[in-house]
Order: sequence, then C-alpha cells, then structure tokens
Amino acid sequence: MDYKKILQKPFLTFVFVFNMLLFGIIVFLMSYVQNLLDNDSRNNLTEIVSQNRDVITSRLMLDLNRLDIIGNKISESLKSSELDTEQEIDDFLAEYSKHAYDESMFLANRNGVAFTEGGRQIDVSGRRYFKLASNGTSNISDKTISRINGEYVFIGSVPLYYDEKIVGTIQKIYTYEQMYELFTVSLFSSKGYMYVINSEGYVILHTEHPDCHLKSDNYFRDVYEGGNVNAARKIKTDINNNQSGFMEVVLDGEKAFSAYTPINQIHDWYLVTSVPTNVIAENGNVVMKIFYSVLLVMALIFLISTCYFFWNKQQQRRQLEKIAFVDEVTGGNTYNKFVVKVNDTLAKASDESFYILNFDVDNFKYINNFYGFSCGDKLLQQIYQITNSLLAPDECVARISGDQFICLLKNADETRLENLFAALQKGNEEAFLLHFSAGVYVVSDRQENINLMIDKASVAAQTIKGVLNKTVAYYDKSFDDLTAHNEQLKRALKQAIRNDEFVAFYQPKIDINDGRLVGAEALIRWKTTENKLVSPGEFIPLAEKTGLVTELDMIVFEKVLQFLRQALDAGIECVPISVNFSRLHFYNSDFFDKILRKIEAYQVPADLLELELTESAVFDNFTVVYDFTRKVREYGIAIAMDDFGSGYSSLNMLKDLPIDTLKIDRAFLENSADNEKRNIIFVSIVRMARRLGISLVVEGVETSENITLMRKCGCSVAQGYYFSKPVEEETFAKIFREGHIC
Ligand code: C2E
Ligand code: MG
Ligand code: MG
Repeated sequence: MDYKKILQKPFLTFVFVFNMLLFGIIVFLMSYVQNLLDNDSRNNLTEIVSQNRDVITSRLMLDLNRLDIIGNKISESLKSSELDTEQEIDDFLAEYSKHAYDESMFLANRNGVAFTEGGRQIDVSGRRYFKLASNGTSNISDKTISRINGEYVFIGSVPLYYDEKIVGTIQKIYTYEQMYELFTVSLFSSKGYMYVINSEGYVILHTEHPDCHLKSDNYFRDVYEGGNVNAARKIKTDINNNQSGFMEVVLDGEKAFSAYTPINQIHDWYLVTSVPTNVIAENGNVVMKIFYSVLLVMALIFLISTCYFFWNKQQQRRQLEKIAFVDEVTGGNTYNKFVVKVNDTLAKASDESFYILNFDVDNFKYINNFYGFSCGDKLLQQIYQITNSLLAPDECVARISGDQFICLLKNADETRLENLFAALQKGNEEAFLLHFSAGVYVVSDRQENINLMIDKASVAAQTIKGVLNKTVAYYDKSFDDLTAHNEQLKRALKQAIRNDEFVAFYQPKIDINDGRLVGAEALIRWKTTENKLVSPGEFIPLAEKTGLVTELDMIVFEKVLQFLRQALDAGIECVPISVNFSRLHFYNSDFFDKILRKIEAYQVPADLLELELTESAVFDNFTVVYDFTRKVREYGIAIAMDDFGSGYSSLNMLKDLPIDTLKIDRAFLENSADNEKRNIIFVSIVRMARRLGISLVVEGVETSENITLMRKCGCSVAQGYYFSKPVEEETFAKIFREGHIC
C-alpha cells in the first residue's frame, strides 16, 4: 500500500501543479486576447462615432449655413430699405414673409411674433430656438409639435441683423424625415443603432431599426433600467461635462458597446452609437473560437495522455500487486499480502486474541521428487484452499515459501488445529500420508514486528521437526533462550573458524573377514580453547542453517589432504579416506573447482579420496548432484551415499546416480519388531548393490551380533565402535601405518 503512495504522490502533485498552471495560462491568455479584442472594438467604435459625428455635424452646418445666407440677405434688404423705427422693421419682415419663401420657412420679429406665409401671426417668443437665435446663437430645436400641422418637426433658427443689432430671426422647419435624412449614416451594415439625445437623455432622433434597443424615449432611463446603474451614472456625468465616452451596457437584454459624443455645433445635442457586442466582436469571435478550439484540443490531448498515463500506472500497479500479493502456486496470498492483512486486522481489532500459526509438510521435497513438481504444486494448492475454507472472518493464510504456510488465527487451540490437519490429510486428493510440523505464537504485543512473530512460530515448529507423534508446538519464552543460545553459538563458531579450533577425527573402516583397514571416515570435532571436544551433533545443524558448514567441510577436507600428503611422503601405503560434504555445496557453482584446486595443491591421488553425500542433497537438486558426481568420478574420486536407509531412500536413485559406495545407516542394525523382515530387506539391498557394482559399508557396527548379521548378508566392510570410535589424528596415524587396528 505504501509503495502505491510513493509511486503516485509526486506524479499527482506534478499533474495537479501542471493542470493549475495550464489552467492559469489559459485563463490569462483568454482574458488577454479578449482584452485586446475589446480594446480594438472600443477604438474602432470610438473612431466610427467621431467620424459619424463629423459627417452629421457638417451636414447640419451646411443646412444652417444656408439659413444664415438667407438671413444675411434679409439683413442686407433691411439695411438698403433704410428703416427707422422698430414698427417699420416689423412691417418689412411681415411683408417679406408673405411672398419671399416656401412654407418651410418663416420670420419672426424681435418680440417673437412670427409671420407665416399666409400672413398669419404666431407668438414664438417663448420657444427656445427663438430665444437662442435672438441672443445670436444659430440652433436647431428639439423635436417639437408644429402649430401649423400638428406633426413632429425640428426648427432651425438664425438671427437677423440691422445695424448690428438683432431685429428678428429666420426659421426653417425640418420635418422628422428631413432631419432623419441628415443624421442617417450606415452603421455596421445597419446592425448598429444611433441616437441623438439631449442633455437630459431624451431621444431626439434615432435610427429606424426593427430591433431598436430603446424601450422608452429616454436613453438614460433605458441604460439604467437595463441594470447598468454605474454606466448610466457615468454617461450622465460625461454628457453633463460635455465629454465623449465609451461604455459596455445591456440594453433590452442585449449586450452592446455604446459610444457617445457631443455634437458641439448644436446646442445640447449628443450622438450616441450603440452596437451589439456580438456584431462588433464577430471577427474577434472567430479568432476566439479558433483560439478556444486550439486550447480545447490541447486540453483534450493533455487529458487523454494523463488518463492514459494513469491507466498505464494502474495496470503496472495491478501487475506489481499481482506479483507481490498473489502467490503463483496457490493463487492465494503471498507473504507481502499477509503482512498487509495482519497489520490491518491487528490495528482494527479490539481486545480479541490472535495467534500466528506456521506449518509445513514434513519431507515435502520427497513428494516433489517422487511424484513431480506439478503434483507437489497441486498438493500445496489443496492445502491452501482447505486451510482458507476453514478460516473465520479476520483470519488469513499465506504460503511464504516452499511448503511453508502461515496463518493469522483468532483461535489456535489444539482441537481446532488437529481438525485442520485432519482436514488437510483427508482433503489431499493423491491420499499422501502427510505429517505436519506446526508452531503457534500467541500475539501478546500487537506492535511487535510480524517477521518476528512468524519467526517465533517457526522456532516452535522446529522443536518438533521429525517428531512423528507431535504436530503442534506452542511458542514458549524458553525458546527465546534457545534463540539466544543459537546466536551465541553462531558467533562462537565463527570465532572458532578464525582460531582454527576444528580438527578431524578418523574412524576406520574394517574388512570383517581379516580385520584389515580398508578406509576411514574423517569426522569433524571442535576442540575448544579449554581443550573440550564438541561433537558435530551440537553444532552441525546450526552450521547448516547459517551456511557455515561449507567452510567447516573444506577445513576437514584440507586436513585430510594434509594427512594423506604426509602419509604419502612417509611412504605409507594409504587407503581411501572419506569426507562428509553438506548438500549446501550444491548451491555453489564452483564447488567442483574448489575441490580440484585443493587436491591439486596437495598433489594427492584422487583414488585416495571419497566424498560422502546424503540422500537429502540428491533430493534437493538431482540434476546438479548428478552432474557433480559424474565429474568427480571421471576425475577418479569415489562417491559414497551416506546414511542409506535412514530416510526416504529411493532405490531408483541408485540406478540413476553414479555412486561407488552405499553406507548403510546404523539405524538398520538396531533391533526392530520384525528382525526377519529387516534381514530380508538387508539381503536384498546387498544383492542389488552388488549387481550394480556398488560397494557397501555398514555404519554403527557395535556388537558381534552385528558382525554375524553382516556375514549372513554377505557384507564385509564395517565402520563402528566394535572396531574403533572416531579417533584423533595421531592415534589414527598409527592404525594407518599398521594397516589394521592395533
Ligand atoms: P555420519 O557421517 O553418518 O558419521 C557417522 C557417525 O556415526 C559419527 O558420529 C560416528 O561417530 C557415529 N558412529 C560411528 N560408529 C558408531 C557406533 O558404533 N555407534 C554409534 N552410536 N555411533 C557411531 P559423529 O562423528 O558424531 O558425526 C555425526 C554426524 O555429523 C555425521 O554422521 C555427519 O553427518 C556429521 N558430520 C561429522 N563430521 C562432518 C563434517 O566434517 N562435515 C559434515 N558436513 N558433516 C559432518
Ligand atoms: Mg558420514
Ligand atoms: Mg553416516
């Protein structure tokens, strides 16, 4: 679980940071591009508005100029008529209006009395256009209702002068259509709107447009009611200060850019141009669309590659989990999975008791060797499945190596375990006779390292290994002492190797027919600094476990070579000496070369040496042992099979393996319930060995009965206390010289 986190955390952080960065860059770019486009639109629109304003202003000025010219003419006529009184001027103006112009124009005297073409008189003194013109300001009026025909009209008004004094005004009536004509300019292919408003926001003129945004007759109100409170305020302030401006507003639910500017030549008039943003941003939108599409594609590519990466990681993780957590033989839990599960269970559990059970099948390797690996694997699968089926919730099982299984149990009393092993015995389809060695450790401290718990259960199991009537052992505190003792012994062994405290003892092999020495076996002894002799039974098992045994074997081998060298040099007629070699050597590929190097160093003839191997070595690794024995025999060294008959001896093996000597284990000589049967087997082995050309040595010959039995069976070479115990080198040297027991 931890490696999962380690695997993903830095990458997740990277993806998160990268995504955030990408997102930030996208947002920044988008707003940057949008800003550029907005600025562009703003500039364009402002430019267009001021151009329109100039066009419109020049049209208006042209028209007012015409009126001015007519006014100037009238002023000149007044001057040439040499009028004295105000009444004469008024009469002149009244008379002039009767026939001088069409009905769209009329004159007014200084008091605001207007003379129409038909001779009617109207009072315009209160009208704003008159007041402005009589103060010298040529102007055009706001939209106003004609008193002549009742229609909306605009009235242009310019002053008339006599003796540089304003004596009246001349007006031109513009119909709404005429005024509209003057103001019309094409805006964005007629997609924009144009309003002329006064300083109060009242619309004087606006483009005829079916979708015209205006809802009321007041631009300020429409802007305000569109929800643009601040914009309305700003536009109003700008207009009051006679300033141009630009705003983005919502009018009638549609977003629009509005630009406004005063029409300076006409008092109180402002030109407002409004264009929907989607019209103005049409090109910009295309750019933005392309931009968004590119970003979208990029984001998609990134998203897909991220997904792919995670998918791939997930696959890898599953693969790793499968390797780490699924046992390829049983298809069940591995050691790693077991540790994860146990940790979880122990962390969650309240005050229940837990036990670690560690068990294996005694001599499982023989099943593998006799019946083949697929049969062995099948048995392991059955053991796993049956055990698993008998577990309660929160309990679990795993195979940790070879035939070794571990379980976390909530109940590990003897009855339950007996039932478990009975079920395993019953459930194995090949009906093998199975014997299990199991160790149980009671979990007392849940914080304790799981490996240690498993080891302790394993230590308990070791104590009953090979004890046929005992299957389960419970871990005891005293095992800690054993572990400590082993640790100490291990250190002591290493030190003893360094101090050269190991010596070789020799046990003669005697021909029982004539008492001749026909060979000897070298047996290791540890001669401590206190001159105490420690027998191999006390340290060889631990040396096997720690691997030190291979060093010990080579020490003995070298001592034997030294001994033979000296004997040869002394001209003694030598007999072969056998040396024990552990099965562990076969895990070392240069075992054979190592032996050769030693022999060559001492120049000892190969036929004076014999290597003793045990059956377990052969079962462990038949092909390697086979190759080794072949090479060794080719070189001239003999091979002896030690302790034959003590374990699962396979007669088949004798056929396949090139060996010279069979050493019958001393257990064979022990009195058994049926000595007759034993003798029959003994005789058969002897006959078979003879036929195969294999010589025999009987080990552990202690009594004259043993010698009689040997004679009966036709065996001649004996090794045992009857003739001699293993003796130290000096004593043996004498026997060696004599050629028989002294
Ligand atoms: P082994 O190779 O089968 O050696 C024979 C053992 O039987 C020796 O025990 C020997 O003292 C004992 N023996 C011989 N005759 C009699 C007898 O008449 N009665 C009884 N009760 N025992 C007899 P030892 O020397 O204690 O060695 C025990 C085992 O230790 C050996 O069994 C061998 O497996 C192992 N061993 C001894 N030396 C070495 C060594 O150098 N290398 C390795 N790998 N193992 C060794
Ligand atoms: Mg031996
Ligand atoms: Mg033996």
